[in-house]
Amino acid sequence: GVVLSPHPVPTERDVEATLRPKRLADFVGQARVREQLELVLEGARRRGVPPDHVLLSGPPGLGKTSLAMIIAAELGSALRVTSGPALERAGDLAAMLSNLVEGDVLFIDEIHRIARPAEEMLYLAMEDFRVDVVVGKGPGATSIPLEIAPFTLVGATTRSGSLTGPLRDRFGFTAHMEFYSAEELEQVLRRSAAILGVELRPDGAAEIAGRSRGTPRIANRLLRRVRDYAEVRADGAVTLPVARAALEVYDVDELGLDRLDRAVLGALVRTFGGGPVGISTLAVAVGEEPSTVEEVCEPYLVRAGMLARTPRGRVATAAAWHHLGLEPPAQTLG
Ligand code: ADP
Repeated sequence: GVVLSPHPVPTERDVEATLRPKRLADFVGQARVREQLELVLEGARRRGVPPDHVLLSGPPGLGKTSLAMIIAAELGSALRVTSGPALERAGDLAAMLSNLVEGDVLFIDEIHRIARPAEEMLYLAMEDFRVDVVVGKGPGATSIPLEIAPFTLVGATTRSGSLTGPLRDRFGFTAHMEFYSAEELEQVLRRSAAILGVELRPDGAAEIAGRSRGTPRIANRLLRRVRDYAEVRADGAVTLPVARAALEVYDVDELGLDRLDRAVLGALVRTFGGGPVGISTLAVAVGEEPSTVEEVCEPYLVRAGMLARTPRGRVATAAAWHHLGLEPPAQTLG
């Protein structure tokens, strides 16, 4: 028969949640953003009003959701969570807004994907704490203004460039999240290892940090994979040789590039002779959505100096050719 455990088994998602920093002081790195945010929160606290709306922009896994939760925690407010794609109908947003309690933090992930009618409703909500609810259809339709409680909107986006001007202008503060340095990632890893009860040696931490593409979520994920290897094939301690051997098994190369990153570079170099090639063509060549290639792979490849965006398309740099063990043509970008 089936034995039901009285304690639900924690899933990998739950593990990710336990690793989330809970307060601003636990949030590693992003010193600039932390300082700016501290001022925004403290200024509002002194004036006794909800802080200005905050936009967090940057690649996935850099801590936008964590920061939204931290903002609510620091304010002692409740966090309501939704996402751009979930707000297809303005009515869904109206329901969410009218349920807000004064001081609540409303988090909208992937806010660049919000549908137009919901976006327009959001303008008024952000500016005047009001929504216009349209009742009826056609010429007889009337709009009823509805007060909503003063709240703080925290929007997160992987592409602030595709936000419309009017939406962007309604945020009082925009934080641009940067990729993390190796030292910061080591700090993230030490913190996570302590929470998970993993013995992490300094050289093991350095190795994982160096292959985490500047991204805490990836650092934490690699730590969990290396921990599996350490427990199954070694004595449990995460040392340099253990980290190297484990990352080899998971196809993470010395730069932290994974299969998809290498597929993108491979297509760019081998199929398109180094480019320039348009993002959609490149995405088709690797069998991925253009948005995945653009928002997930590209930012780090650009930052690692492997790929350049030019007006005519994506171009592989000499470093990309060398990384794939190939000799670049003479005119290749440095
Ligand atoms: P995003 O919303 O930008 O995709 P998340 O906030 O979900 O990123 O972060 C992913 C994971 O990375 C979190 O669960 C957390 O464990 C870790 N993380 C992100 N930023 C930090 C940070 N500054 N300090 C410590 N851990 C972090």
